[in-house]
This record gives sequence, C-alpha cells and structure tokens, in this order.
Amino acid sequence: MDDGSWEVFTGYRVQHSVERGPCKGGIRYHPDVNLDEIKALAMWMTWKSAVVNIPFGGARGGVACDPKNMSQGELERMTRRFASELVEVIGPEKDIPAPDVYTNEQVMAWIVDTYSMNKGYMVPGVVTGKPLALGGSYGRREATGRGCVFVTLEALKILGISPQGATMAVQGFGNAGSITAKIASEYGMRVVAVSDSSGAIYRAEGLDIPKVIEHKQQTGSVVGFAGAEELPGDKLLATKCDVLVPAALEGAIHTGNADQINTKIVAEAANGPTTPEAQAVLDDKGIFVVPDILANAGGVTVSYFEWVQSSQFYFWSEEEVNSRLREVMVRAFHEVYNASQQKGINMRDAALDLAVSRVAEAQRLRGIYP
Ligand code: GLU
Repeated sequence: MDDGSWEVFTGYRVQHSVERGPCKGGIRYHPDVNLDEIKALAMWMTWKSAVVNIPFGGARGGVACDPKNMSQGELERMTRRFASELVEVIGPEKDIPAPDVYTNEQVMAWIVDTYSMNKGYMVPGVVTGKPLALGGSYGRREATGRGCVFVTLEALKILGISPQGATMAVQGFGNAGSITAKIASEYGMRVVAVSDSSGAIYRAEGLDIPKVIEHKQQTGSVVGFAGAEELPGDKLLATKCDVLVPAALEGAIHTGNADQINTKIVAEAANGPTTPEAQAVLDDKGIFVVPDILANAGGVTVSYFEWVQSSQFYFWSEEEVNSRLREVMVRAFHEVYNASQQKGINMRDAALDLAVSRVAEAQRLRGIYP
C-alpha cells in the first residue's frame, strides 16, 4: 500500500463453459466479491453469450477490495499482481476478461501490459474494454447502455408506447446506468430519476443526463444535482415510470420491494438484479421484464467485436460497431420474444431456454471426450 504496509486481497476467476468458444466475462472490484457470486456471474455470461449468439463461453472474475478507498498506485499494483497470477489461466484463445463493476479501461490496460510483458510480445486480444490506443473498439464503453436502449425500444414498440416522452428511472449510475440514461434521452425518453450508492434524484420534467454525468464526475455522486429533488435511495425503484432500469448490483428487486415497482417495463442493465421470487411478483403485476442476459448483452457483444478487431489488427468505424450491435440486439430480442409468445412463458424463461438449448446443442455435437 502507499503507506508501506501490506494487504492481502483475495481474487477469483471462474470459468463456467467452453462449449461454444473461449470463456468470456468481466472482472469486478467490490468489497462484497465472493466465490459464489463470481460462480453465478460466470454462468450468466455463458447464457448471455448464447442468447445473442456470439461464439463465447462464460467466465467471471473479481477481487474483494474497496476500490473507492484505494489510490491509483494501489489499484495498479493489485491489478498487476492478480493479472500475473492469471497469466496461465487467461488468453485470447481461452479466457478473455473485460471491465465490470468498478473496473475500467485503465485496469484493462494494466492487464494487457502485465500479460504481454510475461509473454514477451503485445497481446491486445487478452482483454476487451481496453483503451482505443491499445487496440480497443469504438463504442465498447457505451455498448452495455446502447444495447439496453436498443432492446428497450423494441419492448416499447410491443407495448405500443412511443419512446418520445416515455419516462425512465435508473438505479445505479456507473458505466451501464449512466450511458443507458444518456442514450435513452437521446432517443427522446424522459429520464425522471437516477440513483447511485449515495442516494437518488428526481425531476418530473426529466433530468439533463449529460449534466448529471458531469456533476457525478466532479463530485463523485448524482446527489446534489441542481434543480432536482432528492429521493431516499430505496425509493428509486418505486418511481412511477414506463421503463425501470436496475443498473447496480444483484438482488436489487426482491420480495421486500417488488410490490412497489410502478413501471411497465424493467430493462435489466445489471446482472441478476431481480430475485426469482420478485420475478414472480413482477409477472403477476403484468410487468414486461427484459432479462439481464438479453438487456445487458450489448457489452459482451461489442467485446466480441473488439476481440475480432484485436485478433485481426483491423479496426472498424464507430458507425459500423453500433449498427452491428443494433442488428445483434434486435434479432436476439425478437428471438426471445417469439419464443416467449410461442411457449407462453416470460422473457426470462424464454431467454434461458434459448441459451441453454444453444449450449446443449454445441455440447451434443462435440460429444464427451476424452
Ligand atoms: N461485465 C460485462 C457483462 O456483465 C461485460 C463482459 C464482457 O464484455 O466480457 O456483460
């Protein structure tokens, strides 16, 4: 640590599936990281890649730490130590990390460098979500939010709601939440409430999201944004709106609050934000849930595009990335929606059904060997 003391951090990397391609999934830094959580997240990555039909399996990683109270130097040393432990575990052909909760392009740059220095040559394809200057992809930073908006637009169409003026509330204002809010407002939606770990803000006429992002960059929180009312953080999910976007951590919507949810659509930008019991409550209320493995798959989809570009050392324009992302998300949404209609099941079950079938088909074709 900067003061000369030593700290021991526990890190995890779980590989869940290699049936359809190399393992893929982010690395998170958070005090609550534990093995069970990382296992669950690794499995969700398998289904997520399968739902959008990109050739990856699933993995996940994390380090239990409190990144908000660590300096850049401490984060760099911890990241490099973790990456050097993973040198034989990860690699562009076998397991490709990416950013997740409280990790970013800089963390990916340290992993690229640590891995490449160990190998003796530059290996940009070992992670995705890296800076453009190191072979990253245009549109990767915005991809989770952009993908979430693309599927939200399809859900609005199905419910016959115009995006112009449709109201949105967003829980969590990190990469996924802030960009979903920003792009949704570019499509004419009115983002009335947003929150982060410090609290929530509300403005009935809609928040100026680029200004809220600036305020958060300057002060560290959305709270205190001029012209908005403050809401108790736990009231965010009860905001009356057309689209509710949980974009924070697992288990946000549970039996204790599911009943208060007052929206038509839930678009899960976070991983695992709704407990199975809460899903049943939302179903009873007739809420259209676009499940995490579909709603937030834009991130891993552009990670796939980035990996392809990194492997070929041939780079695409931002327009090309975004239009291919749209194609993948809209196709996946309708595959899931049609399956849900045909089978009379909700969108989450339909997405899981499709994903598990694709992985099972790959496993059947490959067979069991040795
Ligand atoms: N952490 C992101 C997710 O949950 C991105 C994973 C990736 O791109 O590999 O989907």
